[in-house]
Amino acid sequence: MPGITPDLSHLSVVGIFAHPDDEGFGCGGTLALLAARGARLTLVCATNGDVGQISDPSLATPETLAQVRQEELRQAAAVTGVQDLRFLNYRDSGMVGSRHNQHLASLHQASPARVVGRLAGILREVRPQVVLTHDSTGGYGHPDHLAVYRHVTSAVALASDAAAYPEQAPAGLTPWIVPLLYYVCFPRTQFRRMWHEMLTLGITPPFASKDAESLGCPDDEVTTTLNVRGFVDTKIASLNCHRTQLDPNGPFARFSPELMREIMSTEYFALARRDGASGEADLLAGLW
Ligand SMILES: [Zn+2]
Repeated sequence: MPGITPDLSHLSVVGIFAHPDDEGFGCGGTLALLAARGARLTLVCATNGDVGQISDPSLATPETLAQVRQEELRQAAAVTGVQDLRFLNYRDSGMVGSRHNQHLASLHQASPARVVGRLAGILREVRPQVVLTHDSTGGYGHPDHLAVYRHVTSAVALASDAAAYPEQAPAGLTPWIVPLLYYVCFPRTQFRRMWHEMLTLGITPPFASKDAESLGCPDDEVTTTLNVRGFVDTKIASLNCHRTQLDPNGPFARFSPELMREIMSTEYFALARRDGASGEADLLAGLW
């Protein structure tokens, strides 16, 4: 209910995303809100964004970008209030069909069983009540987003299975049921709106799609909409830590600050799993 500010110091939340900065646009306000109310936040970043853009050559080279982006994420996470930041250290797989898909260190080439096992181990260690990750569309279909969606979904299921990963038990990583799994969504109407705004401004939308109709998720898949207006300054400050990704000539740079604030003030989720035994209702829906 709006106006109620519950103490969430009993709550552990794990966000698992593909690249440094994926946490920000989709759920940075929600993470800041959770942190402000005392929740313990763990953020897991699967790749180091090795093949992302470099907005300013004085910031990084292709060789140093992974390291620089890790440091950017450390700063962004501190701004948001994340206490526990972990890197899985896979290599960014690049967009569909890129040569980076073939790199042996890439997430794309990693053994799914191995990645799922690592994630299940983290869930068993941290024992969160809430997990947040990419949705089945990956927003705009990035292979690493889709891989993380699949691997996290499997890891949440297997973390509770006593027969899975028995080798983790000696380290104290015993089965854990994650009560609530949310996918971070970008509803199609939001993409349509951004697409329209870009065309109006004479910008070519930066998505590998001819229109907005294959981007984001169908609106009716969104179960939970959060107004994070009160945390949008923190969200923007955190996003601004990802300096190598802030292209002053990029498509979003020409949106007015007012429009960007408005777009970033609402975050969308699909509640994918509510464990019958221990799950609360839609926890995020009750936060504002
Ligand atoms: Zn990403």
